[in-house]
Amino acid sequence: MDPVTIFIVVMLMMLANGWVLGLMRKDFPAALRPCTETWRTATLLLAGSAVLYAFQYQMPLGLASPLANGLVMLGCTGYLRALRQFYGLPDPRWLFAPALVGFIGILWFAVVAPDTRMRVFILSACCTLLLLASFMLLVSQKAPEGAHSRRVVAGLFAMVAGFMVFRAAYFVGRGVSPSFDITGDGAWINIASPMVTALLPVVGTTAFLLMCSERIGRQWELAASTDYLTGLPNRRTLVTVGERRFAERQQPQGRSLALAVIDIDHFKAINDRHGHELGDVALRHVAEHLRAACRGSDLAARHGGEEFVVLWDGLDAAAALTAGERLRALVAREPLHASGALIPMTISMGVAAAGEGDRSFSDLLRRADEALYIAKAAGRSRVEMAG
Ligand code: GH3
Ligand code: MG
Ligand code: MG
Repeated sequence: MDPVTIFIVVMLMMLANGWVLGLMRKDFPAALRPCTETWRTATLLLAGSAVLYAFQYQMPLGLASPLANGLVMLGCTGYLRALRQFYGLPDPRWLFAPALVGFIGILWFAVVAPDTRMRVFILSACCTLLLLASFMLLVSQKAPEGAHSRRVVAGLFAMVAGFMVFRAAYFVGRGVSPSFDITGDGAWINIASPMVTALLPVVGTTAFLLMCSERIGRQWELAASTDYLTGLPNRRTLVTVGERRFAERQQPQGRSLALAVIDIDHFKAINDRHGHELGDVALRHVAEHLRAACRGSDLAARHGGEEFVVLWDGLDAAAALTAGERLRALVAREPLHASGALIPMTISMGVAAAGEGDRSFSDLLRRADEALYIAKAAGRSRVEMAG
């Protein structure tokens, strides 16, 4: 295949990728739309550059070469911008500077002082800088989520940057004759160049979409397992974790397991007196205390309404009673400061430690719930141990 055909094939593949991304864009959550839009624009810019490279000798060279190279540099800028948007980073002031400086330089060495070697050098330096910035951004991410697709995208950026450096060294070292033709099929590097630069718009787009879909999957998982108001794990998570811990407890080296069912006292009165919104603030206030009191693999969850559950890992009945009493006293000691008022809050609690009689996690939960009713009946702001 001659380089012109390769440029055309590559351009068609890039256009197809841009088109697919355009179709999918509306299905992405709003938060991911800007980065997918930018990625798509960058891909289309590179497709545009492939067209110009393929037909540059049919146009005035002083115009085609700077334009084609300018589109490549803008495309690399677009990929960097898309990744920054993906990670919620604002555009840096210098974002378009490398492409602009590169374009002016290439224009100079195309029109004023024609020098192909300098043009190759400037394009490579500019693209390498932008590609490495993208690479560094990807590898500096600490979160373990989406690590595979991120590594693939980072690897592609590194490969293309490496090729750019190699290509510059090749041309600068060998010298480029004034009659050099980037679409001439004499040099193998003319075949390799469009193929390697197509890696990002083609393979990279797929890997980037995978990064997006992993992010969406994670957000769904989080939304399904978390209570929207307090940010605590929800009932579903509590039951999943509780059942797992309960099963682990029955293993030979299983740790003891205890829990508390907690209910805010006279919460309806808080809602009635101060409004539902302040009721929500009060729920978050208590949730924060419960979260802060958790150690290691303890779990505090919102069980529903104004009811919470704390799961203590490794506590026996006596230790759980002490921990429960400490928690009750903490909430009672710290009233809620809201709308210029001090709103006293208390909680009642039923505590149960897993024992021989419990056949399932729900048995344990039920016993703690019964103890909670006793605590309520006995006057509230109390901790009652399940029998
Ligand atoms: P007790 O001491 O017996 O527990 O009395 P209580 O008033 O706390 O209990 P009751 O079950 O009568 O009322 C619970 C209230 O909690 C009623 C309900 O409107 C309110 N509630 C449940 N979920 C929410 C919520 O998400 N936000 C707000 N603001 N209120 C909620
Ligand atoms: Mg209540
Ligand atoms: Mg209740």
